[in-house]
Amino acid sequence: MLNRRSFLAWLGIGAAACAAQGVAPVSLQAASRLSGICALQFAPQAGPYDLQVRDYYGKMRRFDTPSDDDVVLRGEELAVLHVTQARLQRLVKTVGYANFALLGFDDAVRMADSYPAVGAFTRDELEFLECQFYADAAVYGFYGIKAINRLTDRVRGRDVVKVPYSGNYLFKGEPHATWEAIHANLGNEVVLTSGVRGVMKQFYLFFNKATQHGGNLSLASRSLAPPGYSFHGVSDFDVGQRGFGEANFSERFTETAVFRRLENLGYLTLRYPRGNRLGVRFEPWHVKVKLA
Ligand SMILES: [Zn+2]
Repeated sequence: MLNRRSFLAWLGIGAAACAAQGVAPVSLQAASRLSGICALQFAPQAGPYDLQVRDYYGKMRRFDTPSDDDVVLRGEELAVLHVTQARLQRLVKTVGYANFALLGFDDAVRMADSYPAVGAFTRDELEFLECQFYADAAVYGFYGIKAINRLTDRVRGRDVVKVPYSGNYLFKGEPHATWEAIHANLGNEVVLTSGVRGVMKQFYLFFNKATQHGGNLSLASRSLAPPGYSFHGVSDFDVGQRGFGEANFSERFTETAVFRRLENLGYLTLRYPRGNRLGVRFEPWHVKVKLA
């Protein structure tokens, strides 16, 4: 089984260089057979201010509709996306949905290696995950800042609490206190729909969306922060109206009593407000928690 040092050595990356820079070295990019997706981070980028404003807002409103300038994986890269996502699905089944939210990269590699029902990640898959994590998401049209800097950063068990009946964890301190205050005010009408998400969980959700839409990474990034960019990895959480199901993750959430009460109480400082210039759709359910 590989520890991080031997894993990095196996990938041909000096552990010291990687730790110092927090980025995948260019030599890996150049050597990769997956040069297409790795090269994306060096592609010229157009910032949001270079876009036609009307086109930009239209794209955010129709977040699930492909756009001509979307970044879409093709050929070999699309195939690697599919096999990686299938392996992540098997990993979720093996680890359990709640535990998976806390799983770090190194532990995921070890688990996959140990459980034949999952199977070890191939070298191509590991390179793909690394390139995806360190890619500049602005290439996809996502302009949020990075919340987690290193692929191997992990959620520590002692930093989180499990929220009863939700299947979710929250970070101790301000995030948990904010939820507790919300819950005290609204009672059981409000539900915690998504809490802490480690790196692997965000990979899983992002790749799931991209897989459902033919490998379209830009489309996925309009409703899910790319791996490393999600504030679920450090503080934020999602809330919903009990019994409202999947509609809690749609604009219809704004029609609920929970939304109105949270807004009146001042809890809805949103990470992705309507009309944001981050390349993300309006997410009225996503509570932004300021870090101390
Ligand atoms: Zn969220």
